[in-house]
Amino acid sequence: MSDKHHVICASCGSINNVPQSRMADDPKCGKCKQAVMSGKPLELNEAGFQRYLEKSDQPLLVDFWAPWCGPCKMMAPIFTQAATQLEPQFRLIKINTEVEQILAGKMRIQSIPTLAIFKNGKEMIRQPGAMGLNDLLRWARTHAG
Ligand SMILES: [Zn+2]
Repeated sequence: MSDKHHVICASCGSINNVPQSRMADDPKCGKCKQAVMSGKPLELNEAGFQRYLEKSDQPLLVDFWAPWCGPCKMMAPIFTQAATQLEPQFRLIKINTEVEQILAGKMRIQSIPTLAIFKNGKEMIRQPGAMGLNDLLRWARTHAG
């Protein structure tokens, strides 16, 4: 496995090079000294998400949601809980499609919530509809790449 493994800091957005073998040791950011993995989903806008697509070597698990969507609200605590179990293997990201309508259009999000996994800038799979925690964990790990 390559030593170059780029991880974007959850706090300051700096790109850190953390060998995969060190990811489990709660690595700290070289710039801001905070943990590069926060253990929580990150709320990103289009520019922030684009940066992750281009620069992050971690697979991304993304929740496309909206504040007016009931199933999304049910999904939110499950997604937060999933972050504690799926990081650092994944980076969990939330995109508010109500705010990021252009991005949601580009991604052809047709129903919410939609969960999707991206790797090396490419969408691997997506799943419309809310999932329970165990289903979400199993689904993500199956498609970790
Ligand atoms: Zn940082």
